[in-house]
Amino acid sequence: MKIGVLALQGDFAEHISMLKRIGVETVEVRLPKHLDGLDGLIMPGGESTTIGKLAVAYGLMDPLREFGKKHAVWGTCAGAIFLSKDVGRDQPLLELMDIKVQRNAFGRQVDSFEADLEIDELMKATGTEYPYHAVFIRAPIIESVSESAKVLSALEDGRIVAAQQGHLLATSFHPELTGDTRFHEYFISLAS
Ligand code: GLN
Repeated sequence: MKIGVLALQGDFAEHISMLKRIGVETVEVRLPKHLDGLDGLIMPGGESTTIGKLAVAYGLMDPLREFGKKHAVWGTCAGAIFLSKDVGRDQPLLELMDIKVQRNAFGRQVDSFEADLEIDELMKATGTEYPYHAVFIRAPIIESVSESAKVLSALEDGRIVAAQQGHLLATSFHPELTGDTRFHEYFISLAS
């Protein structure tokens, strides 16, 4: 099992340490050739416009789209924005996942927050019963998911913060910033 982490901008190093903790081989992806031989790809949080512009500059847009048609891809926060089909404004998007996302939906940096989420799918997959402690930093929300995608988790007010469409996964929050490796384990199960 070899998982790539898109390493253009943002907190890719934290994803790499999480993957190492669960014994997964990792590759930093900066160029199209780095996708060769990978079983899955994680796209980190950061700034989605910057990630998109760099992906265009490095000729990564089409290779990433091709990769995502057949392999597991997980976008966290800015990565989820980049993975989506629609953010209601003009910026480079992979448009792989049929979800509509609203950027900075909770406000500014000072409005960042943490919440405990009961995510049935995750608890089932990992045989655990405790909630997932999620960290939101200038987070997007997933406004809507198409019929082919399903909601994995929503806040108490109904706002969607995690969704899955086959082997594609999007989370508004940052599982790489907690000590809880369950989301990374769940993603590995999609990549296997
Ligand atoms: N606000 C950022 C964006 O819109 C995402 C923030 C994050 O990844 N923590 O790209």
